[in-house]
Amino acid sequence: MLFLVDGMLGNVAKKLLLLGYDTEYFSGMSDSDLIKKAKQEDRTIISKDRQLIANARKSDVVAIQITKDNEIEQFFEILDTVDLELNEISGDTARCTRCNSQTTRIAKSKISNRVPPKVFEFNEDFWECDKCKQVYWEGSHVKKLQDFLDKIRARV
Ligand SMILES: [Zn+2]
Repeated sequence: MLFLVDGMLGNVAKKLLLLGYDTEYFSGMSDSDLIKKAKQEDRTIISKDRQLIANARKSDVVAIQITKDNEIEQFFEILDTVDLELNEISGDTARCTRCNSQTTRIAKSKISNRVPPKVFEFNEDFWECDKCKQVYWEGSHVKKLQDFLDKIRARV
């Protein structure tokens, strides 16, 4: 399942990427270009823009309209339309939140000068983006997302 998410919904996009879903952001693109891209790449559009959602559906593109501001409510709006696998968050499946590429495990010895000293000291597992080379570790953002998913699971 691939997504095309409104830049206004950056938090939603980031969560989808950490869950391992191929997710691209958009901003400043015309509706027709967006719909064309979604169609070509078979992506589901997620946006608050009612007009865009209506246009996408007319073109047989799956589109999810977000109406809520609360992040958990927003996720339920997505789950109303698509089945997401809410697995444990893992660095092995999470995608780069900067460029949507896959990441690969990298030896701790290779990144000593690329992360803050405290991060290096307190983490053993690191991943590097295949494309932009950003280094990731299972830090507090993963913990927060895990808590978020637990809340969602509790209500499903
Ligand atoms: Zn990247």
